Amino acid sequence: MKYYDKLIFELSHPGRSGFSLPNCFEGAGADTQQTRATLGTVRGGTVSCANGGAERSEAVCGCLIPQHLKRESVLDLPEVSEVDVVRHYTNLSQMNFGVDTGFYPLGSCTMKYNPKINEEMAAHPLFTGLHPLQPAETVKGAQEVIDDLDHALAAITGFKHFTFLPCAGAHGELTGLMLIREYHMARGDSARTKVIVPDSAHGTNPASAAVCGLEIVVVKSRPDGLIDVEDLKPLLGPDVAGIMMTNPNTLGLFEKDIKEIAKLVHGCGGLLYYDGANMNALLGAVRPGDMGFDVLHLNLHKTFSTPHGGGGPGSGPVGVAESLLPYLGIPKVSGFHGNFGVMMRAYAYILMLGRENVKNAGPYAVLAANYIKESLKDAYKLPIPTVCKHEFVYDGLINDGGHDDVPGATTLDIAKRLLDYGFHAPTIYFPLLFHQALMVEPTETESKETLDAFIDVMHKIAEEAAKDPEILHGAPHDTPISRPDETTAARNPIVKA
Ligand SMILES: *Cc1c(COP(=O)(O)O)cnc(C)c1O
Repeated sequence: MKYYDKLIFELSHPGRSGFSLPNCFEGAGADTQQTRATLGTVRGGTVSCANGGAERSEAVCGCLIPQHLKRESVLDLPEVSEVDVVRHYTNLSQMNFGVDTGFYPLGSCTMKYNPKINEEMAAHPLFTGLHPLQPAETVKGAQEVIDDLDHALAAITGFKHFTFLPCAGAHGELTGLMLIREYHMARGDSARTKVIVPDSAHGTNPASAAVCGLEIVVVKSRPDGLIDVEDLKPLLGPDVAGIMMTNPNTLGLFEKDIKEIAKLVHGCGGLLYYDGANMNALLGAVRPGDMGFDVLHLNLHKTFSTPHGGGGPGSGPVGVAESLLPYLGIPKVSGFHGNFGVMMRAYAYILMLGRENVKNAGPYAVLAANYIKESLKDAYKLPIPTVCKHEFVYDGLINDGGHDDVPGATTLDIAKRLLDYGFHAPTIYFPLLFHQALMVEPTETESKETLDAFIDVMHKIAEEAAKDPEILHGAPHDTPISRPDETTAARNPIVKA
């Protein structure tokens, strides 16, 4: 255990302070009323009460906080010097993995590099200082950002308008399905209670449909990974609200029959929902609005660059075609205008790339994925060998090193071993169509050198597995912790070492 592995509370020593504030507000007189009002909130609410003790915080906060709301005891906060605080959190951050520290080929997640200018724009005080209850005429700049982003996304996707209320992709799915339901209800078509979902779908699709009160019907994929149109036909009827599709699908394959599928679904009176989480592959090349979809969500935190590992802030705006426009304002799935910071990042990203470079993003992402896919197929099983879009799936190793008394290296072992070499793992065991699924999505923001380094390491791991799979079974060897017992960790977490 290193000394910084302690909790910040364990580093606490009475009387140590990580900051110093000017003395001006400590009984300094009337002219400091304003200073008190500003600093009093800060000190009253945080560290100063612990450091300064109740008496001191009384002096600061006394004028602001009504008696009945005041704390009766001193808040138990760590008392730590600035250098200890900085080291503690910097060291903690280095125990984690992020796009800023290495390649992150997590399939389906589009972990592209997030330009820092996005952060600067999102953190601009003119935006962060806004209050949701401000009069509308004082927030015209923010409204313009939302309107411009609406316009840009409409042009990119081929839809009419977006609502920015949903705060994640799954939230967008729910919103989109609610819109589909409103559409059918408005036509008196209340028997449409089923939604068709392919067996390759992301888990959020059936989950959102269930939350929306719809019944899920699964349509099968063919051996080539695409929706089986013959399996779809008998499922269509007057009880179908619509179909949810991702295109390219979760195997990274373009659903070539989409025009026929759209015709069939519309023919039975259903609508088409587009899960836009894979939109990165199509950026600038094809528009879902032109394929016959009626409603879609985008994951601004994937395709339009917001750091989102570990469940960070998201935005899942929902766009509609003409037919659903009258219902767009109905689902109030979050307060005010949704997650504005994420919208600001997407807006800055689109403006920075410009029309021409937005068009390049999709093709470069596709090129990077195919480059890796082809470079490793001598060592990893490639169940679907066709040209992929922005991501693809291997089904474990060709030679996993296993024999009668030695178990072979699994996809989990490969993923864990990659961490030793400084790469984040690809997505594993998803989609569910293959037993050893290993799903790689490099994105367009990686250099050829990075892709080559990843390919080298994946080859090295394949050699290790063939020679001595035990190296892989014990991986990772070089990370702050090795393999946690994930079930116990989830059910009985010990958050203090
Ligand atoms: C990520 C993802 C979602 C869900 O998006 P969240 O923002 O995580 O809720 C849905 N579908 C696909 C294909 C995805 O990759």
